[in-house]
Amino acid sequence: MINFNIPPLVGSELKYIKEAMENKKLCGDGPFTKKCQKLLQDISRTRTALLTPSCTAALEMAAILIDIQKGDEVIMPSYTFVSTANAFVLRGAKIVFVDIRSDTMNIDEKKIEEAITSRTKAIVPVHYAGVACEMDAIMNIATKHSLWVIEDAAQGVMSKYKGKALGSIGHLGCYSFHETKNYTSGGEGGALLVNDADLVKRAEIIREKGTDRSLFLKGVVDKYTWRDIGSSFLPSELQAAYLFAQLECADEINNKRKDVWDKYLSLFSQFSDQLNTPIVPSDCEHNAHMFFVKFNSKMIRDDFIDRMGLNGVTCVFHYIPLHSSEAGMNFGVFAGEDVFTTSESNKLVRMPLYFNLSEEDLESVLNITKKVLEDMFCGR
Ligand SMILES: *Cc1c(COP(=O)(O)O)cnc(C)c1O
Repeated sequence: MINFNIPPLVGSELKYIKEAMENKKLCGDGPFTKKCQKLLQDISRTRTALLTPSCTAALEMAAILIDIQKGDEVIMPSYTFVSTANAFVLRGAKIVFVDIRSDTMNIDEKKIEEAITSRTKAIVPVHYAGVACEMDAIMNIATKHSLWVIEDAAQGVMSKYKGKALGSIGHLGCYSFHETKNYTSGGEGGALLVNDADLVKRAEIIREKGTDRSLFLKGVVDKYTWRDIGSSFLPSELQAAYLFAQLECADEINNKRKDVWDKYLSLFSQFSDQLNTPIVPSDCEHNAHMFFVKFNSKMIRDDFIDRMGLNGVTCVFHYIPLHSSEAGMNFGVFAGEDVFTTSESNKLVRMPLYFNLSEEDLESVLNITKKVLEDMFCGR
């Protein structure tokens, strides 16, 4: 059986974990955390990157940082992971879902403005598959209406929009290092990019359980005290050590993923009457986080998944739109018409794509896929 995902392993993880153990410092903000943050700052050309236990935690920190209050409205796509919404619901926000574009599966920037009310506080673009949302348009809308922009760049580490790193464009950006993403900090992990300089000091306090411990560690204050609300938003040094190994090999990981992605594209493109391959707008540089295709109906998509499974290859669909879920109905509302969110998500399937996918396994996935598609579409 060929898995849909296997967590990336580059080989130097244990060496760094051992080093972290020998440092006799395992709690957050030790040397490996600092090294990862520096690397992330360099990669994304932003001033402050803070490691967090997950992207979920980074999103929760963002919701605290922009002072979400009960009744505030937050705009986002319905086609996303639950954490995008949960982080804001936890602080009392009402979620306003906006339809996606059928080409990129990202929030339709043209439908955002009509969803804005006097209670709207933020827009949360989600860069699906590591392909950027139309950030210039979104930032312009946000500026015009004085709204915060929090990028859910969980899937977009190392991706770019007009030369800028995803996560570095909005006021805040959230990264994931979950084992299903391009790089992992040992299963769970994330980072918050604090691009708005005015938010940095409070971000450090919220992350340290509401205390000014980070100022104390820098020698700025001589004892640390409780200053604000906060929580434990620091990962351990063991997680940072694992992540450091992977970030050092970030290009190697992405090159491998891009190679697999390109091979899928050339295979599926031969069946372009029967399915849609991913669209990457010309001003976007993507990180090959995901390869998906969309068939012409849910029935055909499900048939493809079944046939691939019978041949030993795990292919999977993706998000059930949040507005159709129990919690989504309780905490959110869909603004405007659901033209593409439900229909496009029903047609989508994702192919196995991971760093340690062997050449042999890739060959067999490609051969099986070709045969399945021929059986389905070329009549026997
Ligand atoms: C993976 C993912 C998350 C959650 O990341 P965690 O690190 O698992 O908390 C949030 N949003 C999107 C779009 C994701 O893909």
